[in-house]
Amino acid sequence: MASTLGATHRWVNWGGNQRCAPAEVVSPASEAELSEVVRAAARSGQTVKPVGSGHSFTDIATTSGVQVRLDRHDRVLDVDRQSMRVRVQSGITINQLCRELADVGLALPNLGDVGYQTISGAISTGTHGTGARYRGIAEQVVGVSLVIGDGTVVNASADEEPEIWSVARVGLGALGILSTVTLQCVPAFNMHAVEAPMRMDDVLGRLDELVDGNDHFEFYWVPHTRWALTKANNHTDEAPRGMGRARELYERVLLENVAFGAACRIGRRRPSLIPKLATAVPSSGTRDFVRRSDQVFTTPRLVHFCEMEYAIPRGEAATALDRLTKMVDERGLLVSFPVEVRFTAADEIPLSTANGRESCYIAVHMYRGTPYDQYFRAVEEIMWSLGGRPHWGKLHYQTAATLAPRYPDWERFQSVRRKLDPDGRFANAYTDRVLGAL
Ligand SMILES: Cc1cc2nc3c(=O)[nH]c(=O)nc-3n(C[C@H](O)[C@H](O)[C@H](O)COP(=O)(O)OP(=O)(O)OC[C@H]3O[C@@H](n4cnc5c(N)ncnc54)[C@H](O)[C@@H]3O)c2cc1C
Repeated sequence: MASTLGATHRWVNWGGNQRCAPAEVVSPASEAELSEVVRAAARSGQTVKPVGSGHSFTDIATTSGVQVRLDRHDRVLDVDRQSMRVRVQSGITINQLCRELADVGLALPNLGDVGYQTISGAISTGTHGTGARYRGIAEQVVGVSLVIGDGTVVNASADEEPEIWSVARVGLGALGILSTVTLQCVPAFNMHAVEAPMRMDDVLGRLDELVDGNDHFEFYWVPHTRWALTKANNHTDEAPRGMGRARELYERVLLENVAFGAACRIGRRRPSLIPKLATAVPSSGTRDFVRRSDQVFTTPRLVHFCEMEYAIPRGEAATALDRLTKMVDERGLLVSFPVEVRFTAADEIPLSTANGRESCYIAVHMYRGTPYDQYFRAVEEIMWSLGGRPHWGKLHYQTAATLAPRYPDWERFQSVRRKLDPDGRFANAYTDRVLGAL
């Protein structure tokens, strides 16, 4: 039986901005236990919400019903070396998955910038990395098994229940509980990383060349300066070199997290110092190293923050950044976190933020405990006017009425949702807001 962790548990997300007090917390370890949890909830009329690592900033994972934790449902089940496909239980974290894939000579082709999330949480919100020829993590999903509203299990892939498979890859936790996912992997690879400061004018002037000329290009604009920190990661046959354990601890933990965290705390206490503190960021230097792919894609993130991220058509990137940099100056906002800018190819997943168009992702952050509303609303106004779609796991102020026209396949998603969850077993306040109540 799924172990019950008690009824008095209080839950808080990584960003510290979402909390809930579930009526019950369960921790199933098998598909049969997952089904039983949903059946029991249906009998008692409770809602059910699976939760991953709590790395979403929206209230997408909150519940006052049954919270389903997946940390006992986190194993690799099958590895097919021939087809390079692996089937995993949904609660495995990306970090753990990448380690196990590396052991069998496989990898995921692209990742976001951390690996703490569960695979099911990441795909359910459309988590993505960067790379003009690459798509989000959900695009690697070739099969799922999903526990739906009545507790039965549906297997879906391109050959079996293709409409459910298509939609469930970015399902917002609203269609059922993913029990297992099958992922298409690639042979393990190393990446050559070059990280360097560049003038913003140069980055924007050479944007297409930088984005198309590298496998994975991204940059961080440092507010209150005209500087950006760029990262260009490319596949290589070279062996790992250039960043030993000691240097990694110094740069990625001490400089990027401990020193940056201290600067953020000073900025929170004395906001007027933020522009001065910002001038130190570009001097954090140039790095050139080769590592295993997942160790380049993901880095430790110890400084907690809140975030909004919008996907806009790639062609609007320079306009969006021009307006954003001017807006920060004109409104006199004091922002201690760099603005992250990434790029992906178009995909065909109905509620993917990159559905049908090459995308540029612009993400803004505020140090945990610092008011973000004024900044995020002003950024949203710009991104929305350029056709933006908000990341499902990051803060935004949109509703089903405003979002529906932004997704050509919106009705396909809703029709599958009505079929799999007619009683709203997997609904919560967030799905009511962004998808509409059932
Ligand atoms: C430090 C940090 C870095 C990040 N970097 C990136 C990035 O680089 N790129 C990016 O796109 N995003 C990024 N994010 C956002 C993050 O990837 C997403 O919010 C992701 O959903 C979090 O995964 P999780 O396991 O924490 O899921 P949670 O936040 O716990 O849950 C997210 C959703 O998934 C659902 N869910 C979880 N498990 C299941 C399941 N088994 N079946 C069905 N639904 C399920 C939940 O119900 C909920 O609706 C970052 C967030 C943080 C805090």
